[in-house]
Amino acid sequence: MRQDGNSESGAMSDSKTELGPDGKVVVPDHVADAVRTLIEWAGDDPAREGLLDTPRRVARAWKEYCSGYGEDPALHLSRTFQEVGGYDEIVLLRDIPFQSHCEHHMAPITGKASIAYLPRDRVVGISKLARVLNGFARRLQVQERLTAEVARCIWDNLHPHGVAVVIDAQHGCMTGRGVRTPGVGMVTSRLLGCFLDDERSRKEVLSLMGY
Ligand SMILES: [Zn+2]
Repeated sequence: MRQDGNSESGAMSDSKTELGPDGKVVVPDHVADAVRTLIEWAGDDPAREGLLDTPRRVARAWKEYCSGYGEDPALHLSRTFQEVGGYDEIVLLRDIPFQSHCEHHMAPITGKASIAYLPRDRVVGISKLARVLNGFARRLQVQERLTAEVARCIWDNLHPHGVAVVIDAQHGCMTGRGVRTPGVGMVTSRLLGCFLDDERSRKEVLSLMGY
């Protein structure tokens, strides 16, 4: 079994999100000002009517895109079921859509993930795997780290025989700027335990995922 020792950066934000009387997240002035500065730098007039409320909307949107900082994805795996009725085959959640943002351009990363594990003695509710994915995706990311963090979280918390995570995503920083290559997807994978060590298991899980 492979046990590489890189610890996950469970970066947690301490900045509290306060709600105003309208139920919306309160945006501090300096945050709205920063967005205004960016609008101006991009070439538009932040004082024109259509853009007046934009800085606060953008700020609130970013709180939501990055809501993963406020949670520990491992908590989704804390409630497990040990009665698995002798089930000892692969559990797979395929093509889970997600959105993240790249840490280099803060541009959207959109794609789908397939997450599988071979349980040892416990399973989780299947929706929990998607919650783990979202907990890490709703942060500033690179696709390789996102893939590794999801796999590691399942490995460390469920102690399964194997974990496989494959992510296929498009990067806004590639499709909308730079080389502008719409339609090009990037595929990353992280295999741990039997899916790494045993070729037959690896082939089986990848073929179940459609790869
Ligand atoms: Zn980027």
